[in-house]
Amino acid sequence: MIAMKRCAQLVGLVGAVALCAPAFAQLAQNATSTVSPSAPPPEWSGEAGASGHPLMTAEAIRAAAGNFRQCLEGLWPQAQKRHVTRATYDALTRDLTPDLRIMDLLDNQPEFTKSFWDYLDVLVNEDRIARGREMLAQHRATFDAVEKAYGVDRHILAAIWGVESNYGTLGGERPVLRSTATLACVGRRQPYFREEFLSTLEILQRGDVKPERLIGSWAGAFGPTQFMPTTFKRFAVDFDGDGRRDVVDSVADVMASTANNLKRDGWVTGASWGYEVVVPANFDFMLADRAQNHTVAEWARLGITRPNNQRFPRTDEQAYLLIPAGVQGPGFLMLQNFRVIMKYNPAEAYALAIGHLADRLRGGEAFAQAWPRYERVLSRSERLELQQLLAQHGYDLGEPDGQLGRKTRSAIRDYQAKNGQIPDGFATVAILEKLRGR
Ligand code: CA
Repeated sequence: MIAMKRCAQLVGLVGAVALCAPAFAQLAQNATSTVSPSAPPPEWSGEAGASGHPLMTAEAIRAAAGNFRQCLEGLWPQAQKRHVTRATYDALTRDLTPDLRIMDLLDNQPEFTKSFWDYLDVLVNEDRIARGREMLAQHRATFDAVEKAYGVDRHILAAIWGVESNYGTLGGERPVLRSTATLACVGRRQPYFREEFLSTLEILQRGDVKPERLIGSWAGAFGPTQFMPTTFKRFAVDFDGDGRRDVVDSVADVMASTANNLKRDGWVTGASWGYEVVVPANFDFMLADRAQNHTVAEWARLGITRPNNQRFPRTDEQAYLLIPAGVQGPGFLMLQNFRVIMKYNPAEAYALAIGHLADRLRGGEAFAQAWPRYERVLSRSERLELQQLLAQHGYDLGEPDGQLGRKTRSAIRDYQAKNGQIPDGFATVAILEKLRGR
């Protein structure tokens, strides 16, 4: 089974994500929606999903919805094995109907993606920093105890709280039981979501979270730090000692469970997530790759420095170099703890927002280097066109997929070098237009 904690992995694109978690919904708020707050939730479009998967045709969705009761009854033996009683099962599932709107959301492939700086602007701003400091002060005793028990930095925990739900003030609106039941019986991810549905039943059977409080994103992530039901099962703890693992309404349980998650994923106590770095223009940008791990000392030898003549506190740590916006933007050396944050939220822009918000909550400065805000991020169709044009110029990219991976970046670099530009591999509108011959 594919490990999946947050819904971003449903889409599988870094930076091109469906609006499924509160964190993502925050980014959509000022987008195109003109729906008034009192409007009823939108219904299923009745259309086939964009994935083209055979279980996502309109006919297949309708057929699966018509079979919903039988599907749920078919899952009863597995629920029984997990010590869910028949009475609980009946009470929880009797009135369930599928929420087919989720099928639109499951296959949503946003045409336009946001830039790294758009994500960071929304998720790390003065309001969120001020509010986070208030929360750290208000819950000081809890953070003291959690930090002592798990060795995970309180600022990271508060930053996850801030990024995932704006400290519990933004959350999904869907009952987790209904969402996971829908996805367990309809659509292309049924095996995965069967596990989530059965885990939801277990949570409710044990009484860890009350049914009316178990609401979340369409993919079933719930609570201020967005646990999926299966991650709840693996990591949730009862830290306030009331006998329930309440990762929705108990701040102690939420923070301890989140800390436990990070610790078990390999958090290094006392270490940073990474550093903002300056990348020289003559750098070999192909080294900026998640697969390229070197010690900080080695990166320094290759010319990587910190802004404002700051020193690297430790030079023996392994790091990879992330340059999200080419030579015109900041670079980042990412340490083990960044990888741990990536396991929590697998989009690099999100993980960086969490790391940066943590630094700001601690009193750190904004990034020293500016982002190339004049650049517009290429849309999916533009990225496909870019790949097709590069292929026409003789570059071997494999099948164009709209995802700018290693082969595409390598081709862009070579093209940039041949055209007298700094070969940073960053796909810009200017490169696309040059390839178009304009
Ligand atoms: Ca508790």
